[in-house]
Amino acid sequence: MRRRRSAKIVATLGPASSTKELIRALFDAGVDVFRLNFSHGTHIDHQARFQAIRQVERETGHPIGILADLQGPKLRLGTFAEGAIELAAGAHFRLDLDHRPGDQTRAPLPHPEIFEALEPGTELLLDDGKVRLQAERCGAEYAETLCRIGGTLSDRKGVNVPNAVLPMSAITEKDRADLAFALDHEADWIALSFVQRPDDVAEGRKLVAGRAGVMVKLEKPAAIQRLDEIVELADAIMVARGDLGVEMPPEDVPSVQKQVVHACRLAGKPVIVATQMLESMINAPTPTRAEASDVATAVYDGADAVMLSAETAAGRYPVEAAAMMNRIVCRVHDDPLYRSMLAGTRIELEHGAPDAISAAACQVASMVGAAGIVSYTTSGATALRAARERPPMPILVLTSKLGTARRLAVLWGAHCVHTSDVKNFTDMVQKAVRIAHREEIADRGQRIVVTAGVPFGTPGATNVLRVAWVDR
Ligand code: PGA
Ligand code: MN
Repeated sequence: MRRRRSAKIVATLGPASSTKELIRALFDAGVDVFRLNFSHGTHIDHQARFQAIRQVERETGHPIGILADLQGPKLRLGTFAEGAIELAAGAHFRLDLDHRPGDQTRAPLPHPEIFEALEPGTELLLDDGKVRLQAERCGAEYAETLCRIGGTLSDRKGVNVPNAVLPMSAITEKDRADLAFALDHEADWIALSFVQRPDDVAEGRKLVAGRAGVMVKLEKPAAIQRLDEIVELADAIMVARGDLGVEMPPEDVPSVQKQVVHACRLAGKPVIVATQMLESMINAPTPTRAEASDVATAVYDGADAVMLSAETAAGRYPVEAAAMMNRIVCRVHDDPLYRSMLAGTRIELEHGAPDAISAAACQVASMVGAAGIVSYTTSGATALRAARERPPMPILVLTSKLGTARRLAVLWGAHCVHTSDVKNFTDMVQKAVRIAHREEIADRGQRIVVTAGVPFGTPGATNVLRVAWVDR
């Protein structure tokens, strides 16, 4: 089984897509990585999903990535005595730490950190920005606000405070429990939500302790302001356009998306573009033209992966949405303009053997017309360097670490195979040729370019480049 495209597809599992049969159908339709959203569902639900995905992996013999997405410090209102209220623009409304249910004049907002950060003039966005309040007078336990844009407020609606850095960690008590659970079930990626600053990423890294890759969701303007530091600390990035588009005006999202994808490409960190990509397919069997164009644009920009959320988690057409996304990505892949757009980004090489070998491998592969680049890797770092070059041929990643093979399922251009360590140079070449042929990367009479590290099995030692014929 080999995908005929370089960019990858991530799909969120939920009530609409949790049987083993549906997960298998999603994989067959093109899904490379499954996302488990810890904002919803119980550990029992997620455990069943872990098991079903691993069963599909055994059936297909193809490493599959699992992304555990932690809820993070999602801020919410408390409840209302009558369930909901109507608030008109110009009305005065109080938010406070008092737990009594809200009414027409006030509502509980059980987050002391918000009141610590509020200043007169700060905007609070409720229910995805549908209702807007502006703080007028604030104290440590309350804020008197003026309603700028009115609407309905009801129990536990989300609250965004875009223009303040809140004195809270990106990892809540619930996240810690979910993280321990996800790591025990061998999640390959942990996504941190509502990251505000580089320290949040450092804290996440410490807790994950190398047991999974750390993916940072960019959904706060404060995080965009420190983009380079955050990209440096993260193993991968997600452009989380849902909350990002609430916290900043929608017209700012496209350029931020391009800026983030570009920064990740330069750094050689995988980047996922997420949310509302085929939104209308939640209820319809075909997307809008604008949605098809949005998926294609993310791929043309050079993103590693595009993601489905509610389309596969809760929609009526989960498999159709994955198949549609697959067709759009394949179509971009076959467009000669895609190649020239990718080549248009100048990638600055870092001095040192690994980058030198990876860059040389891509160049040699192009010059000899090789059908694939074979990358032996333990940690995955060599494959990341090769993918950063966006070569025109597939990268066959051979690794003795199953976790590396699964984690790199999200990586642009990577086709991962879990295999035993090689013993010597002859073994290295023969195994590369044999697997490249078996995995339909290269045909008889074609060439491959192999990179590896000698002595074999030493992480970070990529120093060998070999051109080999497929003669079997
Ligand atoms: P969510 O994150 O689906 O967990 O909110 C993605 C986004 O905000 O875009
Ligand atoms: Mn979000």
